[in-house]
Amino acid sequence: MKALVLESYNNLHYTEVPLPAISDNEVLIQVKAVGICGSDVHGMDGSTGRRIPPIIMGHEASGEIKEVGKEVSGWSNGDRVTFDSTIFNPNDWYTQKGMYNLSDGRMVVGVSTEEFRRNGAFAEFVSVPQHILHAIPPNVSYTEAALVEPAAVAMHAINISGLKTDDVVVVVGAGMVGMFVIQLLKIKGCKKIIAVDLDEYRLSMARKLGADEAFKPDDEELFATVKRLTNQRGADLAIEVVGITETIALSIDLIRKGATLTLVGNVQPTIQLPLQKIVTRQLRIQGSCAINGEYPAVLELIAEKKLDVTTILSAEAPLSEGALWFDRLYKKEKNLMKVILKP
Ligand SMILES: [Zn+2]
Repeated sequence: MKALVLESYNNLHYTEVPLPAISDNEVLIQVKAVGICGSDVHGMDGSTGRRIPPIIMGHEASGEIKEVGKEVSGWSNGDRVTFDSTIFNPNDWYTQKGMYNLSDGRMVVGVSTEEFRRNGAFAEFVSVPQHILHAIPPNVSYTEAALVEPAAVAMHAINISGLKTDDVVVVVGAGMVGMFVIQLLKIKGCKKIIAVDLDEYRLSMARKLGADEAFKPDDEELFATVKRLTNQRGADLAIEVVGITETIALSIDLIRKGATLTLVGNVQPTIQLPLQKIVTRQLRIQGSCAINGEYPAVLELIAEKKLDVTTILSAEAPLSEGALWFDRLYKKEKNLMKVILKP
């Protein structure tokens, strides 16, 4: 089969590779659509340590089942499916406690670290275990289904944020996951959503997708607006989708005493935190890891046309052109957000 292989750092090659073998509990999926994730773009230069070559990346995908292993039940050839990016251990302590996203020995599709290597979906075929599969509703396209993963990441962050409907929420970072956070906050009935991003194009899209206000971080109106909307207290919640010292510091400054900051972005492995502000204002700071059961709800919202996943789509291109699109994303081409590749 053809695949886009990261052969060495910053070196993607569209080439012939063997078909993935499937074990008894796995299915072979013919990939129909696969999204390029920011973590793939950041990861391909070696800076994150989570795309150690050689690896076929790609964890946001959809396709059609072409072969099922001997122990697979409930799935058959021809089924339209998408899958969770986390291959969790179904019998693990965390999974039994309802936290499969944290299960020991978890792997991520299309990711390679010192601990594991699992080829992903920038290929004609990908193999995944049956317990991470989700059926695609008939009126949801393969492209839409390939966007469920990042939307589910956004929904997970909201689900653990402690959101109440009358909360004033700040979303710092209006990239793709940030855009989904904004839309899903709106769907969940959030009263006031304030988006923050450096980029004017993203701010205008954030407004279009449901942000009540959108500001650049250095805009004086940002703090004034948050204060005005909250009787001078500060925002009730912040969701941070960048993951660097500056944006996390900004999020902390924008929330009120006793508020919760949920961290999704993790570009930098280590950041500086204003300890005294966190302690004396009794802030709750929590990480949000991947997805923990949000797929069915997101698929349903797309099927019901309540969640629009394609507005943020910049391009759909053949997988053979993948290296070119990675390059354009890596160079942070203006107004380029999400790219879907089609094998
Ligand atoms: Zn991703």
